[in-house]
Amino acid sequence: TGPADEVTLADLPLREDLRGRSPYGAPQLDVPVRLNTNENPYPPPPELVDDVTAAVREVAAGLHRYPDRDAVALRQDLADYLSVSTGVLLSERNLWAANGSNEILQQILQAFGGPGRTALGFEPSYSMHPIIAAGTRTEWAPTPRREDFTLDTARAAQIVAERKPDVVFVTSPNNPTGGSIPPAELDSLLRAAPGIVVVDEAYAEFSSQPSAVELLSEYPAKLIVSRTMSKAFAFAGGRLGYLAAAPAVVDALQLVRLPYHLSLLTQAAARAALRHADATLASVAKLAAERERVVEALLGLGFSPVPSDANFVLFGPFADAKASWRSYVDNGVLIRDVGIAGHLRVTIGTPEENDAFLAASKEVPR
Ligand code: PMP
Repeated sequence: TGPADEVTLADLPLREDLRGRSPYGAPQLDVPVRLNTNENPYPPPPELVDDVTAAVREVAAGLHRYPDRDAVALRQDLADYLSVSTGVLLSERNLWAANGSNEILQQILQAFGGPGRTALGFEPSYSMHPIIAAGTRTEWAPTPRREDFTLDTARAAQIVAERKPDVVFVTSPNNPTGGSIPPAELDSLLRAAPGIVVVDEAYAEFSSQPSAVELLSEYPAKLIVSRTMSKAFAFAGGRLGYLAAAPAVVDALQLVRLPYHLSLLTQAAARAALRHADATLASVAKLAAERERVVEALLGLGFSPVPSDANFVLFGPFADAKASWRSYVDNGVLIRDVGIAGHLRVTIGTPEENDAFLAASKEVPR
């Protein structure tokens, strides 16, 4: 045993409200086929790797100085990308960036949630929303989706009008269920919300639906659209999330962000990666086609996959999802038990990885 090993969590003066909670914990197991955290299975192309390396090498000479605190050049690049992909003209003042969209979401709750305030989400959804709420001492108001995991937006608007949460999370496409919501259907919810509505579009590039960014001009004091380079951009290791909102929202987040939160290396690497967006995003169509192939194959095996607009599929039924998850691992395939009874979630991988997953699917206990 090492020094201080005798002290346990129970011995520490931890905040009462954090006692007994579990950290976010997608297992990071060393198995041949990893389809559990919705990453892009295609590594960055060599040109991108070279460009990132050159960009990092160039800025490394200035590492003795703090980076641009406002990451203006990166935000401009992100604004350019989002303007082209959504058709809504955005400036760098509409964009904010952080270390993954998790940090974006945390900053949003630091500024607009917190003690005495409530955040509402439609479950099952992204498990970090309630965890970030807990960390910022924002009361979490879970609201169920329909049995088929779709969102009844009329009912959602009604609940939001009644509960008056300070922040509402809408995940589209929704993780872990995969369905997305057309922006037009968010209208009633946005009108009903007294505070902020965060549309978490981490998987937007995989979706056939337009982005909620097109609603920004109509709801500038309410709407925040959160995005990430972790999925479609194949940049999960680079940790870069961002949002689009009114410039005033960006001003609000400046009050809670840590100074220089985005390192010189992160900013340079992300800008280099964005220069290769076309090449990286070419994988999106491939993955969407593979998703359809996997869904068809699962149907053929007698499973019921939930319709997905993202790079993952929730499927079942399993009598004992935990036991089946273990059997996949034993077959060298790591997928995700997201805690929904009778269901597991698989990330779409390369064709070879998907074949391995489908082969294992024939073996698992149902
Ligand atoms: N939102 C959703 C819906 C997600 O699924 C994820 C990643 N699992 C994130 C946000 C956060 O991703 P990142 O911090 O890598 O941007």
